[in-house]
Amino acid sequence: MSDAQPGTFHGIGVSAGTAVGPLVLVAAAPTPPPDEPATTDAAAAGARVRQVLADVATGLQARAAVADDHARPILEAGAMMAQDPGLVTGIEGQLARGVGITNAVSAAVEEYCAMFESLGGYMAERVTDLRDVRDRAVARLLGQPEPGVPSLSEPSILAAHDLAPAETATLTAETCLGIITAAGGPTSHTAILAAQLGIPAVVQAVGILDVPAGTTVAMDGGVGEITVSPTEEEVALLTERKRRREAALAGGTGKGSTKDGHPVALLANIGTADDARKAAAQPVEGVGLFRTEFLFLDRETMPTVAEQTATYTEVFEAFGDRRVVVRTLDAGADKPLKFADLGAEENPALGRRGLRLGMIRTDILDAQLEALAAAYRATNADVRVMAPMVATQAEATWFAERVRALGLPKVGVMIEVPAAAIRSRGILYHVDFASLGTNDLQQYTMAADRMQGELADLLNPWEPALLDVIALACEGGKAMGKPIGVCGEAGGDPALALVLTGLGVSSLSMAPGKVPAVRTSLAAHTLETCQQMAAAARAAVTAAEAKAAVMAMAEPVLADLQ
Ligand code: PEP
Ligand code: MG
Repeated sequence: MSDAQPGTFHGIGVSAGTAVGPLVLVAAAPTPPPDEPATTDAAAAGARVRQVLADVATGLQARAAVADDHARPILEAGAMMAQDPGLVTGIEGQLARGVGITNAVSAAVEEYCAMFESLGGYMAERVTDLRDVRDRAVARLLGQPEPGVPSLSEPSILAAHDLAPAETATLTAETCLGIITAAGGPTSHTAILAAQLGIPAVVQAVGILDVPAGTTVAMDGGVGEITVSPTEEEVALLTERKRRREAALAGGTGKGSTKDGHPVALLANIGTADDARKAAAQPVEGVGLFRTEFLFLDRETMPTVAEQTATYTEVFEAFGDRRVVVRTLDAGADKPLKFADLGAEENPALGRRGLRLGMIRTDILDAQLEALAAAYRATNADVRVMAPMVATQAEATWFAERVRALGLPKVGVMIEVPAAAIRSRGILYHVDFASLGTNDLQQYTMAADRMQGELADLLNPWEPALLDVIALACEGGKAMGKPIGVCGEAGGDPALALVLTGLGVSSLSMAPGKVPAVRTSLAAHTLETCQQMAAAARAAVTAAEAKAAVMAMAEPVLADLQ
């Protein structure tokens, strides 16, 4: 344990669970200083660069040796790039012209990247690896720690300013005990992926990066509390909280329903075939949201129909006759995909993202639908396909026709744009079901960027205005006799799940690790209580008052589930 100042501080808990362990800091990528001194001794600088690149390669090889099948080839490719004689020649050329050492590395790497990009295909995909090598080399030259998630030699708690989805996706619960970020919001994709991986997480923990690396910290990802250098009593308290939570969760693995038997399907959110295998082993009733873009986050080129078909088949097979709701690519804004990039936009979250992008790049959407249809034919699974970011009836019809033309059995839409919630009745006329994406629905209802942690107060899912919008959407569903589920983060909150049930949603989809708490919570309350809770929450003025009103009406077990 280091001598960091003991103390407790708070962030926002976004993935429940507790952890105690040493803190490992994730360094940000360095920037070559613009005022760097010119190179005067090119030979000496060249020798230094070669040494640094050799060290970067050794580090990447060491990580590759212990990495899984997905990460190993990426790390090995990086190690090879670092040793590429052509790259060294390029850097030496820059140094000979007097360019400062880190700027020389950066400029030579960019030249190399441009060449790789012009070659396309496999070579273009290596650009990310090359830039990673650059960042590592520049950091070493500046005497800073290498950027990105380090390899964890012992189980640790990671602290970062924020993590990119691609970085978070490489973590495993075995070595990463917890994630704490100084930035990020409750519906950021870091938070979503952490919950997906079953790793406790706290965001908006301002000041966490001032805690020295190696310090022991204790964290509670449910309530968002972090204790630096905890005492034995504090660790014991955390352990007791964990025990009560586990005891509360011990009951039942069956289908979701209220105390009086009103069914609410409990479904899993997944992003990869690996997630699917893990989730399928859990007592969930299927998948309520398969975020297909997570399959392709680090890809430079579009995956082929055959490759996609193989992945979707794997996912469908894992779930047998349980439903799998697949969302077509939701690229753009906070989930950029290189092969589906329409160029820079002033306001990407309000731009050509989700289905809007699919309607422009019909080649990408059609290839995905073709692969989904082939996987459906191969498995005869209960496949339901939905579109992200639908705003109008015209979009819903356009999508539904395309999906049905391929023989896919059920088509739906995400309701995550207020226009679609307000006019859900008209939209549901054209499709079989809808799923409320409360993360985006909140961002657009409150006009608050979900990636901007400072706006966390506006992004509290208990916000009564959001509940009103959800209520409107549910009224449309009831009028049309079509099911509406929830697949945003709100659905995984055991207290908010009761409100959503009271508002009329028929399924809740969440990270599989959140299902037991929601099941327990539902089983302890009747539908009538849920409806009364929904009315009380909507009658409140603030998010805090809405939650307090519901907690006051709840059974005691709900407090242990937080
Ligand atoms: C949502 O917006 O609530 C949702 C489920 O989609 P995503 O979080 O992937 O944008
Ligand atoms: Mg969304």
